[in-house]
Amino acid sequence: MPDVQVVVIGGGPAGAAAAISARQYGLSVTLIEQQAFPRHRPGESLHPGVEPVLLQLGLTPEWLSRFSRFSGHWQEVGGDRHFQPFGRDAAGPWQGFHIPRAALDQKLLQVAAELGAVVIQPCKASAISPLANGYSIHTVAHGDITADIVIDASGARHWLSRQFNHAVTPYSQPLYARYGYVKHDSQAGYAPCFKADANRWLWTAAINNEQLHWTQLAFSGSPADFTFIENKVFPSKAKKIPIHLLKQPPVELNNTQTIGAIRGADVTWRKAEQCAGRAFFKVGDAGFVLDPASSHGVLKALMSGIYAAYMGSQLLQGRLSAEQTQECYQVWMDEHFNSDKKVLSDFYAGLSAIGHL
Ligand SMILES: Cc1cc2nc3c(=O)[nH]c(=O)nc-3n(C[C@H](O)[C@H](O)[C@H](O)COP(=O)(O)OP(=O)(O)OC[C@H]3O[C@@H](n4cnc5c(N)ncnc54)[C@H](O)[C@@H]3O)c2cc1C
Repeated sequence: MPDVQVVVIGGGPAGAAAAISARQYGLSVTLIEQQAFPRHRPGESLHPGVEPVLLQLGLTPEWLSRFSRFSGHWQEVGGDRHFQPFGRDAAGPWQGFHIPRAALDQKLLQVAAELGAVVIQPCKASAISPLANGYSIHTVAHGDITADIVIDASGARHWLSRQFNHAVTPYSQPLYARYGYVKHDSQAGYAPCFKADANRWLWTAAINNEQLHWTQLAFSGSPADFTFIENKVFPSKAKKIPIHLLKQPPVELNNTQTIGAIRGADVTWRKAEQCAGRAFFKVGDAGFVLDPASSHGVLKALMSGIYAAYMGSQLLQGRLSAEQTQECYQVWMDEHFNSDKKVLSDFYAGLSAIGHL
């Protein structure tokens, strides 16, 4: 008899959504997260589609009303500047949210715990062993946890794929994003802006009254991908370094005050080829990663967590076989990846001279 029906590895939006949904289906759940919260993650600009999903997961309209909304973003490409709205219906324009991830992730884990999920934190999964039925997860400092089903929500480092030696296939040239925060000048307005040229794109978004988030992606091999660091004593020793390693904000934000660290992330498009197998599912970034221009990583994380929990419940209640749940989930992830990848490829192809992606 395993300790628990479902063990979730990782407490980001994908893992929390999986844990909440599994509890909503009546399953026993343990979630382990290696970091203490609140912890930093990027991804505050949320697609309007997250609203019904967050409500389904138990967040309240009151809690969501604390955060700023936006109905689209400015797009500046090749001298053209126009506002790109999300869309509208009879109730008015669709609105996204700006929710700091530290707040969102902590709230979702709190809801999971209130619903009866056991949240162990900080607790790092270090290895996995298959059992006759289910798996044993070995943790650093908290012993072993046995479970019927494992949901890997470990994010872009693909923990389960590495444990099982599963292929994670790149689908783009190597892409590195740099991102950070500067003090927000509220006179400058709140609408986010996506600016792109042949060498790079820059996303800026005021996430609250005080902070403006920026993410910059310089295309590999373009002149903007490298910069020279002068050496005043020995000019011939000037260094050429990849720009994603630079600890400086983009030129547009030179006159602003940086808040906190400038960080980098590998956002090369990639996919775990096997997203489901015998009683395991890979959700969120653990399943696939696209660069942030795809604009809805958090929504994808939430939806895949919910769907994996549903498949797990069908399996444990004997409504679907292991093969059926595996196939349904795999097809669902493949379709999402292929359709998001196509939208992103078309988008880049539409930006002149960037169509080489
Ligand atoms: C620069 C940048 C900007 C972005 N901007 C946006 C945006 O504006 N909007 C948007 O929707 N998306 C954005 N994204 C994408 C978004 O951040 C991700 O898609 C989202 O975080 C994926 O959620 P997740 O739950 O799958 O993974 P994560 O949020 O990465 O969570 C994974 C969790 O697993 C834990 N973990 C890992 N390994 C273990 C282990 N062995 N044991 C226990 N715990 C473990 C980690 O500590 C982490 O908390 C951005 C990404 C980047 C890099």
